[in-house]
Amino acid sequence: MSGLLVRDCAQIVTPDGAGKVLVHEDAAILCEDGRIAAVGEPGRFAGHKGETISIHGGVATPGLVDSHTHLIFGGNRANELELRAQGATYQDVAAAGGGIKSTVASTRGLTLDHMVQIGRTRVRVAMAMGTTTMEAKSGYGLDLETEARTLQAYRALSAEGPVEIRATYLGLHAVPEGIGKAEYVAEACDRILPELANRGLVDAVDAFVEVGYFDEADAKRLATAAEQYRLALHLHVDQFHDAGGAALARVLGATSADHLEHTGAAGIEAMAESEVVPVLVPGSVVGLGLHRFPDAHAMLRAGLPVALATDFNPGSSPTLSLPLVMALACRYMSMTPAEALCATTANAARALRLGDRGSLKPGMRADLALWSASDYREIATYFGINLCSGTVIEGTPYLASQ
Ligand SMILES: [Zn+2]
Repeated sequence: MSGLLVRDCAQIVTPDGAGKVLVHEDAAILCEDGRIAAVGEPGRFAGHKGETISIHGGVATPGLVDSHTHLIFGGNRANELELRAQGATYQDVAAAGGGIKSTVASTRGLTLDHMVQIGRTRVRVAMAMGTTTMEAKSGYGLDLETEARTLQAYRALSAEGPVEIRATYLGLHAVPEGIGKAEYVAEACDRILPELANRGLVDAVDAFVEVGYFDEADAKRLATAAEQYRLALHLHVDQFHDAGGAALARVLGATSADHLEHTGAAGIEAMAESEVVPVLVPGSVVGLGLHRFPDAHAMLRAGLPVALATDFNPGSSPTLSLPLVMALACRYMSMTPAEALCATTANAARALRLGDRGSLKPGMRADLALWSASDYREIATYFGINLCSGTVIEGTPYLASQ
């Protein structure tokens, strides 16, 4: 037997359908040719001759998949924390020239090299907390040049590895200065998207559907344009109001509907009759000091494959920690640690149409997160403490101590 053997695992934990996990106690896991070959009791692998690592009684789970990030942006929005502490809302800050628009100004000034450098540092931070696959959105350029540069940076980072990055053109994020909304939507859908798609820079598109940003008709236009290039559709919906965004995601055949803080019963029912994966981002609720969390439980009861993501961005959710997001989901959304683990692995992979990862069944990609814990529920118990001791990506180990 060759390949990589990960041994001395107190638990090896993998999603087992509908928010449940399968726990192998005192087990080992064998990876061959970048895939999971077998999980089982250590004696089974006694003849293993290849590379072996011990995790000293820790826990192994599938590598975490962050299915919603705004990974690369320039500047920071630290001043907004102060403004919000003084009572300003997200909308007040945006109206005063802050918010997405201020990040657009800082991002347009970045060279490709600088973007790659910023992205690389952030990917390493995420990876150190168990993330092995990420989705990353553009949308802080809002012009062809900056959007293309951001997406090129994602392609470069993904090629460099080891974390694979799926790139999303978030064309409809905000209307840039000096242009009307209708004109900008036409520019994004008819000129910028075709150019990006023809250059092979995008896997998906996204729109921020919200009062004061973009509406259903705009999202529909983007979805229609994306369809020609067979790109997946993600949507930011129902974040501040229940504006029928979940139902819209169903109508437009979206792969995921993200946020959903205000989605009610009708929206949940619409998603349950479709293939839409709900991606919940409690970090952005906490980040904005708000209190209304998405109704994860109603979604789980409806049989939906609920996913959790960081929504990493400079304004509302400045975190790259999926374990923190799991901890929030267990406290504020009554998700169990098992549901939270399924939501950051198998279901998150589904939100990105990546059928080859998110569980530890033989044949799946050998992506693991390794934890200094003896019980997987500890991952969501602690917060502000990093229990991740390393990752394995396509069969190659990356240990924190190395
Ligand atoms: Zn977002």
